[in-house]
Amino acid sequence: MGVSFDKIDGVIWYDGRLVPWADANVHILTHGLHYASCVFEGERAYGGKVFKSTAHSERLKNSASILDFEIPYSVAEIDAAKQLVIDKQQSAGCLSPPDRLARLGDDGRVGADQHHPPRHRRLELAELFRSGREAEGHPHRVWPSTGGPIRRPIPAMAKASGLYMICTISKHKAERAGYADAMMLDWQGRVAECTGANIFFIKDGKIHTPIADCFLAGITRATAIDLARRRGIEVIERRIMPEELSDFTECFITGTAAEVTPVSEIANWKFTPGKISEQLMADYTAEVQPKGKAVAA
Ligand code: PMP
Repeated sequence: MGVSFDKIDGVIWYDGRLVPWADANVHILTHGLHYASCVFEGERAYGGKVFKSTAHSERLKNSASILDFEIPYSVAEIDAAKQLVIDKQQSAGCLSPPDRLARLGDDGRVGADQHHPPRHRRLELAELFRSGREAEGHPHRVWPSTGGPIRRPIPAMAKASGLYMICTISKHKAERAGYADAMMLDWQGRVAECTGANIFFIKDGKIHTPIADCFLAGITRATAIDLARRRGIEVIERRIMPEELSDFTECFITGTAAEVTPVSEIANWKFTPGKISEQLMADYTAEVQPKGKAVAA
């Protein structure tokens, strides 16, 4: 069981000020809670700097605009807020910096529509992930969420809270079946992604990954594609059907939390991390380190 949020030490950047975790609350009638007018980012800092901070801040603003609301802070202000919390937490003796950002809309009324500018604005930064590879040494077993109506919907490009309910349901089902995660299909039945990470397959020395137009185009996904191409490895973005999984020999997932994590099986399909997966894991570890700094504890 995790620790209750109000027992956690540290600060949250809330409406432009730093407040203790226990005090970073919103009203029970908040629009974000009832109608999911909430977007967020999951970010990770290495050596006291958020990796691709600006890309995350830009995606946050873009997610909000897709959902028809505006975050009243510039990308530079959001970047600065994150750095402020990181610096503050570190001075409080925290080893791993905070890394999550969320915004809730609330205009003081109950109702699905929310045309008025938000009366209450909230940006939240909280420490959710510890530094270091989460699944080090433990290739994932992934459950194929192939059947039923639970599929990645659109708009896919927003990192919107509402879209995550299907991820939660899929992940719960996977965990109950003994797997670490679920591989989800898009609404047309094609391989999409996992519940919080993008997916890649390898065959004959080439990397294949679904086109990111029906699911979140991860910042780590883009980094991994870039790293592979820098090594001269061909990356093919294309439609992938679940029946094709038996053709692939390696599989890995990417995400801010997952970094580059090998997958050992998806139901009856088995994969063995090979040279390409291992190379990319090593390249990603090197890439995220702030240049000229030692590896964070
Ligand atoms: N897909 C989903 C549904 C996610 O939640 C995440 C994590 N943000 C990703 C993919 C990977 O995105 P990123 O690499 O930007 O963390």
